Formats: sequence, structure tokens, C-alpha cells
Amino acid sequence: MPIATVNPATGETIKTFDALTSEEVERRLAAADAAYRTYRLTSFADRARLLERAADLLEQDADTAARMMTLEMGKTLKAARAEAAKCVKALRWYAAHAEALLADEEPAQADVEDSGASRARVHYRPIGPVLAVMPWNFPLWQVVRFAAPALMAGNVGLLKHASNVPQTALYLEDLFRRAGFPEGCFQTLLIGSGAVEGILRDARVAAATLTGSEPAGRSVASISGDEVKKTVLELGGSDPYVVLPSADIDRAATTAVTARVQNNGQSCIAAKRFIVHTDVYDAFRDRFVAAMRELTVGDPTDDDTDVGPLSSEQGRKDLEELVDDAVGKGAAVLCGGRRPEQMDHGWYYAPTVLADITDEMRIHRDEAFGPVATLYRVESVDEAVELANDTPFGLSSNVWTRDDEEMAQCVRDIQAGAVYFNGMTASHPGLPFGGVKRSGYGRELAGHGIREFCNATTVWYGSPGT
Ligand code: NAP
Repeated sequence: MPIATVNPATGETIKTFDALTSEEVERRLAAADAAYRTYRLTSFADRARLLERAADLLEQDADTAARMMTLEMGKTLKAARAEAAKCVKALRWYAAHAEALLADEEPAQADVEDSGASRARVHYRPIGPVLAVMPWNFPLWQVVRFAAPALMAGNVGLLKHASNVPQTALYLEDLFRRAGFPEGCFQTLLIGSGAVEGILRDARVAAATLTGSEPAGRSVASISGDEVKKTVLELGGSDPYVVLPSADIDRAATTAVTARVQNNGQSCIAAKRFIVHTDVYDAFRDRFVAAMRELTVGDPTDDDTDVGPLSSEQGRKDLEELVDDAVGKGAAVLCGGRRPEQMDHGWYYAPTVLADITDEMRIHRDEAFGPVATLYRVESVDEAVELANDTPFGLSSNVWTRDDEEMAQCVRDIQAGAVYFNGMTASHPGLPFGGVKRSGYGRELAGHGIREFCNATTVWYGSPGT
């Protein structure tokens, strides 16, 4: 895949970039290694000051950064501005909370005595340079949610960003440099995915995190496993959106539209499978389909646009194939199901709702990475939960109900990294984020995220004697 900025709204190649040579990669690995040796010794207060400065700079740059994201991957400008603001918030959150999150832990006195210690504690230490392999869909946010905790923990970062967002990748390196982080603390590697293995196998790289597709995750995890290096994987999702009889149907339908088409439908935590109890199915379907039809598809820089283009020609082709496969096997098209008319340039796809889904259809199991919803009718809560779990993925889930027992059942039985009731899934700095099953493992954000790349060191003090 070439390293290039190609505008998804027009298909025009704006700028191409050469991949780093192996000598240039080596120089950056050496710089990361050297930076880590001293950066790990800095105080939380110093790191927080630098991260706050990065937040200030990003706040000032927000409009430029947002336009760059829209140009490179096609999200609407308003969504890009919101993404920049969310990154500012996360940088400040980790600057404020990291020290407390990584404070020494004191085991219970009985356990200390049982171990024969006079005292004991768990101390969180950094582990070294961490490679972050990141996707294009939230090109600032995915990186910031890795970088903020990593830098606050005393690690240093190496970013291999997706090949279609090189300008955003270079902007991030520049942001942390301007904020005052020492040389080598956060570097962007403009490389293709074929160069990732060599970096993972380099002894100076301690661990890796990948957000992206399952094949990419499997590759990074298996190479890292071979090297016995820790990984965190944030992979795909096909989140269920369950609507039960006690739900507020108007709100459930309105939120369903946003939950499906956010980021032009290209979000791992977008609701993708809409599972609706038969008692409210018709009411929900009619409102949902009407609202999906009303969406404005068009130029992502236009404030009136709800849904911009998909990020690449290949992305649209993959989505079209998924829809065509379902329609060929009997799915009903309630709206969309095609490219929008009179939009010859750019990689647009009409907001789509499909019903009568069966398990022979690929879309029943594969992730639909674009504005395409599948609608299912169920007769009971048990059936809804069973269908919610009938997927290889387990990232998040959404359930609309006012019934406490149904809530308890969903928390107990839905196989996912999160359950959001009466709202849509979103990530927040203070709440852990991650999946189960083929959606990956490990957690980002909150205390769970910052501790993933720390060495939880047991410190045991015996009696010093007399
Ligand atoms: P992708 O093709 O896997 O790309 C993601 C990153 O991995 C890119 O930097 C890519 O580099 C790199 N990559 C691809 N193949 C690789 C390999 N064999 N070895 C090492 N690196 C490799 O994913 P995508 O299609 O761009 O992104 C969409 C996917 O990400 C969806 O499945 C979505 O659900 C998932 N996602 C998950 C989360 C989450 O938090 N769980 C968040 C956002 C997105 P190149 O660009 O150079 O190929």
C-alpha cells in the first residue's frame, strides 16, 4: 500500500511519501532506546507538564488538525473537530491522573505477614519503547489514547500509522516534539506493514499495541508471541444494539442512526447489528429507516453533511460485496443498498438498512465497515442475547430497556468488553476500553490502560536483621 494522502471525497492523490530506509528506521530505534534510558527517570510532574503543553498545542491547532484528518480519510469536519477536542481532553486526563493510577499498591497486612516480609508493595515501572500500529479511522484519537498513558508511565512511543494518514502521523510526532518531549520519546515511522516484523523482533522494542483488523492483529501478536513480548490488540467489532419492549423507542431509533453512521460508518464500536423485540420491531424499524433515509451524504467539509465518503475505494468495494452477497441470498433492502446517485467522484455509499438476515449471509458474521445496518426481529430477551453473542466479535454492546432484571441478565450474559444501556457506546478517558473474542485483548484508557505497559514489580522487604 503506498504511503500517500488521497482525498476520499474526490479520489485525488494529494501527496505521496517515501517509506523510511532501513538505515533511517535503525536511527529511530536507536533514538528511542537512548531516549528511554533517561526519560524513564523523569518525574510524573515533568511528564504531566509536557503532556499539558501537548494538549494546549493541539487545542490551538484543532482546526488545522481536523482539516487534515478530513482530507486524509474523509470523516466530516465536525466529527474531526470533535475528535481533536476529545484528544485534548484525554491528554489532560492522563496528565492529571497518571501518578495516582500508578501509585504503589500495599498488599493486605495479613498477606505481607504470610509472605514473611516486614513490608511489601507493588511498584509500577515503565517497560521501554512500545510500537503502536494504528488505523486510519480515528487517526488522532487512536494514537493519543496510546501515547498519553505510555508517555505518562515513562515509556517511549514508536508509531507505525496507517499508510493513508501520513500527514496526521507526522503531525503527531511534531506535536509531541513541540510540547518539549525529549528527542526520541515519540517518533513516527513512515513504513509499510511489511517492515513491522523487523521492528517487533528488535530487542530494543519492549512491546506492541495494535488497533486494526484481525489479520493485522494476528500477525503482530504471533510475531510478538514468538519474541515473548506483550501485546494489546484492539480489533474489529460487530456490536449488537438490542431494543427491548420497555425502551424509549423514539430515543432508541434516533440514537441508533448516530451509533451506526458515526465516522461515516467506520468505527469499531459502531452499532452494526440491530436486534429488536417483536413487540416494538415495527415501530423501531419505521423510525430508524426514515431517519437513515433523511441523512445528508456529501462533501465532508460541509457543515450540513451527516455522512461523508468511505476512506478508500477498496473499503467501499468490500462493503458493496457484503451488501450484494446479502441481497443475493434474500436480504430485504429497506433503504440504500447502493452508491448515492449523481456522486461520481469519491467513495460514497448510501446509508443502508437490511432486514431478513440469515446466517448464510457474510454480513451476519463479518464486520460491515460503512453505513450499513442489519435488522433482526427476536421473540424474547433470551433470543436477543443469544443473537447478540452469535458473532466472532465481542467489543461492546448496546441495550435499550428500563427493566432491571433484563439489565442484570445482559451484564451477566452478553460476551463483550462493555454493555451500554439506553445510549450508544463511546470511549472515555476514565473508562476502560477493549474487547473479548476476536475483538482482541487487553484494555486501553483508565487505570487498566496505563498499567498494560508497566512492569508491576513486587517489592519484598525482609527483616534487615540486627
Ligand atoms: P488494518 O488494515 O489492519 O490496518 C491497521 C494498521 O495495521 C495499519 O497501520 C496497517 O498498515 C497495519 N497493518 C496491516 N496489516 C498488517 C500486518 N500484516 N502487519 C503489521 N501491520 C499491519 O485495519 P484497517 O482496515 O485500516 O482498520 C479498520 C479495522 O480496525 C476495523 O476492523 C476496525 O473495527 C478496527 N478498529 C478497531 C478499534 C478498536 O479499538 N477495537 C478501533 C478502530 C478500528 P498499512 O496501512 O500500511 O496497511
